[in-house]
Amino acid sequence: MKKYHWSIISIFLMLLLAIIKLGVGFLSKSVALKAEGIHSLSDSLASFIGFISIYMSEKKHEKFPYGLYKLENIGAMFISFFLFFAAYDMFMDVLFGHYKIDRQYISWGLGVGIISMLITFGFSVLERIAAKKHNSPALMADSEHMLVDGFGSFVITLNFLSLEFNINLDKIFASVIILLIIYTGFHILKEQIFVILDASVDSKMIEHIKDIIMQDPRVKSIKRLLVRKSGDKIFIDAAISIKSHNFNQSHAVADDIEEAITRVFPQTEMVFIHYEPDESPENTRIAVLTFQDEVSDFKNVDMIHIYDNFVLTFVLKAKDDKEKKEDITATDIAQVKSDFVIATNHPKSNRAKWILHKYGVFIWETENKDIQKALDEIKAFSKD
Ligand SMILES: [Zn+2]
Repeated sequence: MKKYHWSIISIFLMLLLAIIKLGVGFLSKSVALKAEGIHSLSDSLASFIGFISIYMSEKKHEKFPYGLYKLENIGAMFISFFLFFAAYDMFMDVLFGHYKIDRQYISWGLGVGIISMLITFGFSVLERIAAKKHNSPALMADSEHMLVDGFGSFVITLNFLSLEFNINLDKIFASVIILLIIYTGFHILKEQIFVILDASVDSKMIEHIKDIIMQDPRVKSIKRLLVRKSGDKIFIDAAISIKSHNFNQSHAVADDIEEAITRVFPQTEMVFIHYEPDESPENTRIAVLTFQDEVSDFKNVDMIHIYDNFVLTFVLKAKDDKEKKEDITATDIAQVKSDFVIATNHPKSNRAKWILHKYGVFIWETENKDIQKALDEIKAFSKD
């Protein structure tokens, strides 16, 4: 079963429950049951709007180049206003209404409460399992909502059970459900206002996106990262600094970053990346390939010395691998964002060459076996 199948079932289930609850609510004159009916109706409408918005989000228009995602948010706001209005209306009934429960429908009400309780609790459990399978936060949220709805049905069951024993607590139980409706209304309203005012997504997601961007060996730093939500889509606006001599390849950097982010967050609709070269010379990072503390080639390296601005910062142990040693070494050098690699020879492996080229690592070939003297060669050039 696909994700949207769950939405369709949930829409019709809620609508069916709403009709039954409202029908029996009017017949029995129970305000509590009518309130539950209104609640189910609003749930069904909310799911319907969410479902429609999936289709609307595909449509783009010259006048709405960012898409029409916010229609979902506007629709949801109307639902919250409908909930407040309904809550007010029923609260007036609770305070001033003189209604008498029609006793012949008490068993009907009890039946509706029990059936609705079974359906909502059961669906909540099934949805929770599906949410875990699809790794879908939206399905999980729906499952949690269904659990709260199950509580509403439990209140209804309790209400008609006590009516069966001639105890009329309808107004009290109605108040409980009205409070639940007001809470739901505020929750929806708050969420929509946040989206409409372009509130950022949560900080955990921002940190995750930062990590993804920084994982690209060509990115030196992130100057700015703005993420906003529209409907259920996210828009990312980032300014990054990349290695200067790689500036002509900046398009490829932006494309790769966009792809990496979309892989983790499929709801990403657009990624804008502004890039600037990182020209500060103090940021020059040099990797020196060494074997027994002498400059070596890609094949025999045992230690990789990393220098920042000609000062040794850390040492990496070269990984041993008979076949792919050159490629692994090239990857490790690129991964720590080196600008240069000093070696006695270029790598023989084409893949290693390609990795270094892609990530803008310049190969400095030297005949100097002494590390310091080899570094001085680059230093001499970087002065002017
Ligand atoms: Zn609900």
